[in-house]
Amino acid sequence: MRLNPATEALYESVVGRNPAEAEFHQAVAEVLQSIQPALDRRPELREAALLERLCEPERQVMFRVVWTDDSGRAHVNRGFRVGFSSALGPYKGGLRFHPSVNLGVVKFLAFEQIFKNALTGLGIGAGKGGSDFNPAGRSDGEVMRFCQAYMTELHRHIGPQTDVPAGDIGVGSREIGYLFGQYKRLTNRFDAGTLTGKDLLIGGSLVRPEATGFGTVYFLDAMLAARGHSLEGRTAVLSGSGNVAYHAIAKLHELGATAVACSDSSGYVHDPEGLRLDVLHEVKTVQRRKLDAYAEQVPSATFVRGRVPWDVPCDIALPAATQNELGESDAISLTKNGLLAVAEGANMPCTPEAIRIFQEADVAFAPGKAANAGGVATSALEMQQNASRDRWSFAETDKRLGETMRAIHDTCLATAEAYEQPGDYISGANITGFLTVADAMTTLGLV
Ligand code: NDP
Repeated sequence: MRLNPATEALYESVVGRNPAEAEFHQAVAEVLQSIQPALDRRPELREAALLERLCEPERQVMFRVVWTDDSGRAHVNRGFRVGFSSALGPYKGGLRFHPSVNLGVVKFLAFEQIFKNALTGLGIGAGKGGSDFNPAGRSDGEVMRFCQAYMTELHRHIGPQTDVPAGDIGVGSREIGYLFGQYKRLTNRFDAGTLTGKDLLIGGSLVRPEATGFGTVYFLDAMLAARGHSLEGRTAVLSGSGNVAYHAIAKLHELGATAVACSDSSGYVHDPEGLRLDVLHEVKTVQRRKLDAYAEQVPSATFVRGRVPWDVPCDIALPAATQNELGESDAISLTKNGLLAVAEGANMPCTPEAIRIFQEADVAFAPGKAANAGGVATSALEMQQNASRDRWSFAETDKRLGETMRAIHDTCLATAEAYEQPGDYISGANITGFLTVADAMTTLGLV
């Protein structure tokens, strides 16, 4: 790691104070490393323990969640909500329901969210939450009872001006509906702006389901254009086949690229003729099955069990499943096959070693903080619509999303250039987000 002695000491103290939180350490290390040029130019930002405050969550809530399955058996899970920074607005960030969730994972996601949300320019702070509950194979009734039990504690800590959760892995509009139903019952208020990612019937926004995937592809399109390329005729490989991957595939196809492989936790499917969205939707969203069911229905497709998709040759890699899912050997295999660009739909999906390989091979690289910010940006638009009891059209909201992603792209590029890191979107995103939040923290005084 390239850190100067002062930041190195801070990093060591973060590791010491937050033991066994590897993902959180990784996220902090990346940010401290890439904001170094800004700290060199503005040494006053080291004062008033600003960096120490930035690395310490404002609050962390952990709670027991007790629920019963369909046979009446009781289960105990752990719930989390971390409010990392409210310097720019109410805490904002999703809830993840997955067995791998622990405090370190939630803290890394909430920390990343600080810089991502600052990049949107929309006045939103940063938070994240979730549970180690595994929704896979659970009935609607079980998921509903879990969500109600989770919200029975969480409702004390959230609200439209305080903390506004949304979805993430394992939390889609079904779960948000159950969570909001319980919130409404407990508080006796239809405060639609307390949760985003809602169904349209209960105050959701058009384009919110599509926003993260569409936004990632809008960013990718701008990044390719900056290098004199386009998406037309390109081949793409994605990981994941959930909300982000599905809508990214749809937008890639619309803009002339062909997505030929995507994955889930069981393996990946390769369809050289181009992935079929109707079959993906039926298998993953309606039937909630694994991708072998896709290959059963599409003769041109092959299912590869237990493997990640990065050995399939492509121009574009779009990791959209989970953190640290694309490592060094995957990056070597992708670059050997002539990779042009990577856009992170997921949060921190590429390991630091993989990113180094991409940078050495001059592959255009869009970090998740910037590339997947379209989801939270559209959540902020949902909050605006809830506050004004208004509803914007699909075209209007999609236009706002496209403009936001292009603005984030251009800002990252310009900041990277200004800090002598040309073409480095990681530096551009981290420095822009950091300066925005740091200046707001200074304005707010020692809180
Ligand atoms: P979904 O739950 O809709 O989909 C997740 C997909 O990733 C599924 O295909 C799932 O497989 C797969 N997956 C999850 N965990 C693993 C794992 N450990 N190993 C292999 N595959 C895995 O989630 P989203 O699409 O919403 O989120 C995907 C990523 O995008 C996450 O990193 C999230 O933080 C990030 N993100 C999401 C936003 C949003 O608006 N939803 C906003 C910004 C970022 P299976 O179906 O088998 O479980």
